[in-house]
Formats: sequence, C-alpha cells, structure tokens
Amino acid sequence: MTRMGYSTEHEAFRHTVRTFLDKEHEPNLSRFEAQGGTDRAFWRKAGEAGLLGLAVTGEGDFAFYAIAAEELGRTVGSATTGSSLMADVATFILDGHGTDAQKEKYLPGIFTGEWTQAMPLTEPNAGSDPTAITTTAIRDGDEYVIKGEKYFISNGTGANLLYVVAKTDPSARGRGMSVIIVEDGTPGLTRHKINTVGWKCGDTGALSFDNVRVPVTNLVGKEGGAMKIMMDTFLEDRIQIAARCLGAASKALELTLEYVKERMVSGQRVIDFQNTQFMLAECKMDIAITETMVDTALMKIRDKSFTFQDGAILKLFATQMEGRVLDKCVQLFGGAGLMDENPISRMWTAARIQRVYAGTDELQKVAIAKGML
Ligand SMILES: Cc1cc2nc3c(=O)[nH]c(=O)nc-3n(C[C@H](O)[C@H](O)[C@H](O)COP(=O)(O)OP(=O)(O)OC[C@H]3O[C@@H](n4cnc5c(N)ncnc54)[C@H](O)[C@@H]3O)c2cc1C
Repeated sequence: MTRMGYSTEHEAFRHTVRTFLDKEHEPNLSRFEAQGGTDRAFWRKAGEAGLLGLAVTGEGDFAFYAIAAEELGRTVGSATTGSSLMADVATFILDGHGTDAQKEKYLPGIFTGEWTQAMPLTEPNAGSDPTAITTTAIRDGDEYVIKGEKYFISNGTGANLLYVVAKTDPSARGRGMSVIIVEDGTPGLTRHKINTVGWKCGDTGALSFDNVRVPVTNLVGKEGGAMKIMMDTFLEDRIQIAARCLGAASKALELTLEYVKERMVSGQRVIDFQNTQFMLAECKMDIAITETMVDTALMKIRDKSFTFQDGAILKLFATQMEGRVLDKCVQLFGGAGLMDENPISRMWTAARIQRVYAGTDELQKVAIAKGML
C-alpha cells in the first residue's frame, strides 16, 4: 500500500536513517548491552548523520521525527536499546520555550550529540497523576534549590541535559510546576540505572536531587508553565511512539514470515496451516491501519489540527496493535519465540512497555473520554 504524504526529501531521509542504524546501531548491540546503553560516540555519529535536533533542522515538519522513529522501531536492536535516539524529541521543549541564551548554549551541542536530553517528570509516587510530584525547586536569591526523586526516566543516566519538572510553588498542583534545566555534574545530582523487562539497555534511570543548585536563568518558559510545556511535547511524543510501534510490528511480521516459511511441522510448512495465514492476515491488517493513522496524524500536526484526543487514540491503538502483533508472532514461533536470544522474544517484551510508559492505556482512555464529555 502506498504511504500518504511523504516527499522525495522524506524518503531520502528514511534511507539515511536506515543506513545509519544498520551501520552504527545493529552491529554494536552487544557493546551497548554490556555497557548498559548507547554511548556518546553513538550520539555523535547520529549528529554527523544529521539525525539530531530535528525539531529545529526539520523546520517544524514532524515527519522527519516520525520517519526516524519508525525506522528505529524497525530495527531488531531497538527492542534492546529502547527509545534511545527519540530522547531527541525533548528538543521541542528548548526550541519552543527556551530563552535565546539557553538555545545558544545548548542547541549546537544537541545537533552534534554532545548534549543528550531527558525529561524527568515521573516520581516513585507520581506517574499517572503528574500534579502529585513532590520534587521542589525553591528560589534562593539567584538560584533554585532542587530537592526530590525522579524515577523510570528514559536516557536517565546517560543524558547530560535534564529538563526537570519540579514544584516552584509546592502549595499548588499543576500550576505550581516548572521546567528547570539541570546539567550532568551539578553537585547533589546522583543517578542509577533501573533494570526493566524489555529494553534491556534502554537506560531507564532513577535520579536523586539533594539540594541541587542551579541559576534561575535555567528556568524554561514561565514559572508554573510546566504542564503546558509537557502537554505540547506530548502531542509529538504520541506520534513518535506510534511510529516506533508501526516499525516494530512490521519488522516482527517480516521475521515471522521468514520463520513460518521455513519451519516444518507434521510434514508441512507452518505457513501452510490456514490458521497461520489468518493470523498473518490479521497482523497485516493491524499494520495497514496504523500506517494510515500515523500518516494522518502527520498531516494533522502539519496543519495544527492534531488534538490531545487524537494523540490519545493514536497512542492507545498503536501500542495495543504492537502488542497484538507481537503476541501472534511469538505464538507462531512456538518455543523458539520465547528464547532470549531470539529477537522476537525481545520485541514482545519491549512492546509491553509501550502500553505503560508515556501515559498508560487507561490514561489514554481517560483523555479520549474527556474529549467526548
Ligand atoms: C521504560 C520506561 C520509561 C519511562 N520514561 C519516562 C521518562 O523519560 N520520563 C518520565 O517522566 N517518565 C517516564 N516513565 C514513567 C511512565 O510515564 C509512568 O510509568 C507511567 O506514566 C505510569 O505511571 P506509574 O508507573 O506511576 O503508574 P501508576 O500511576 O501508579 O498507575 C498504576 C495503574 O493505575 C492505573 N491508573 C492510574 N490513574 C488512573 C485513572 N485515572 N483511571 C484508571 N486507571 C488509572 C494506571 O493505568 C495503571 O494501570 C517511563 C516508564 C517506563 C516503564
């Protein structure tokens, strides 16, 4: 089926991303796994290939991010490294809300991979309800003093540019939350990696802020403006997640097709069972629907008509779709599908994360329902 809305420039970019990932991501997986994540060298190479800071270099055309996300999802390795390069979506925070001085300081290094980003919002006791965070950033002269804990943060130990969400007004809920930049190496900041099922080296981190002092000029946007900044970024984030789900489901179907064409059971190929063909047909249908949804979302975000409800529908459908497809693929592999060294097993556990992180299925349903009430 022909995809809608992609120019020759987009397709050339897709080729660049694929070539980069084939050369710099896939062959280095065992190294990434041994060291617990991707490294600065990988990010620098991504910068050289023109894959970073797309919020700025893509001139607002989100299709470039979606293409990068889809191609990343399509690699076997992304089931192990997780959202990795997609942490770059945080550039929207800086580009959309940062001061000129902040942009001047960080953007050049974001393009080259010197600065890599993370968005620490979630805390041990505040996930689905972000307004319940207890991390505070209290003003003391020309500085904010940050105190609190962040948990489950993607790129959490490797990123050196953190957009920390903290309460500048602890007496308020959402309206008291602000985004403040904290750089790696700031005294009082410590972090460690958390092991997850799926995304074995996805660099999911726990961060601790023990009276971390940063200048007030590190505030991004207005005091109390964090919810608006986060909501704006969520729209783009929903699309890149859906695009990664699409890539992953397509790759899983490709791997499964190869396997069932070879595997012999009771004297016939597994693909020759009608049940197998029906399962593959359902996967193909799910993928085709998601392609159309992602491509439509890109058109809507281009003409600024993509709503929060649209984002919730897209995330809910695409992440569940990836789960459905991967579950069928594992079934068709039989026992081989559950072996750790088999990419399909890693893709299956990775798919499970997508329905929880960046807002659970239930929270997407809440948002869809709110749009109707
Ligand atoms: C691998 C990974 C990477 C992550 N990366 C980041 C990151 O980079 N930055 C960041 O800030 N966070 C990140 N997160 C955190 C993620 O966004 C949260 O885990 C998620 O929002 C859910 O919050 P929680 O884990 O606290 O679950 P809880 O909020 O404790 O939810 C528990 C259950 O209650 C349900 N529930 C909650 N509210 C409602 C409701 N109103 N109605 C019905 N059911 C409800 C939930 O759906 C869920 O099933 C990451 C998480 C993971 C696993």
